Amino acid sequence: MGIFMYLLFMIPPLIFMIWAQSRVSSAYNKYSKVRNMSGMTGAQAAQTLLEYNGLRDVKVEGTKGKLTDHYDPRRKVLRLSADVARLPSVAALGIVAHEIGHAVQDKAGYAPLRIRSALVPAANLGSRFGFICVFLGLILYMFGAGFGLDVMWAGIALFAAAVLFALVTLPVEYNASNRARQMLQATGLVSAKEYQGASTVLSAAALTYVAALLQALAQLFFFLFLVLGMRR
Ligand SMILES: [Zn+2]
Repeated sequence: MGIFMYLLFMIPPLIFMIWAQSRVSSAYNKYSKVRNMSGMTGAQAAQTLLEYNGLRDVKVEGTKGKLTDHYDPRRKVLRLSADVARLPSVAALGIVAHEIGHAVQDKAGYAPLRIRSALVPAANLGSRFGFICVFLGLILYMFGAGFGLDVMWAGIALFAAAVLFALVTLPVEYNASNRARQMLQATGLVSAKEYQGASTVLSAAALTYVAALLQALAQLFFFLFLVLGMRR
């Protein structure tokens, strides 16, 4: 019974996540092969866009893997994957502009980014120990220890921090992509057609954050369903 309910909660957001990730890879595979008209690599575009935004203290470094590009607000470092940094593709322009969007948020003190950074430790704790607490509490309860319910509630409270993190990630990501679109147009780095391509990559990536939120919410609802179904 518990297992069936668990699958009922978790499978729809999982399917949505798989679909969103497949959209990201197909958009990236397509537009990482389309050369941009200015012939700018991601690394060159990063210099142009950092300058455009007056971000002189942000360093650019490389990072391993594919689609691992990110901005590190603590170190003020923009890390680009090899394909994005070296190839003059349409996808690279979109991805670099998005990450620089995060650097601009950082400089501007954009509130959702600050809240998100502050939530990192609690969210890590919640996603690691929330689950453990809920199941430990469940086992205690099944063996007749009434305080097992309190342990479950503590686990749910911990896990709620992870849900909050996924929620606050949405405005951070959508805002970075909007900033990316604006700076690509304002600097004239992309043609109208390239703008559409870069935008498609960004929209697909944003969907994965929606999927992550839905997964976290489904998990939370399942925990609530479990604990509310029990009697003191
Ligand atoms: Zn982002």
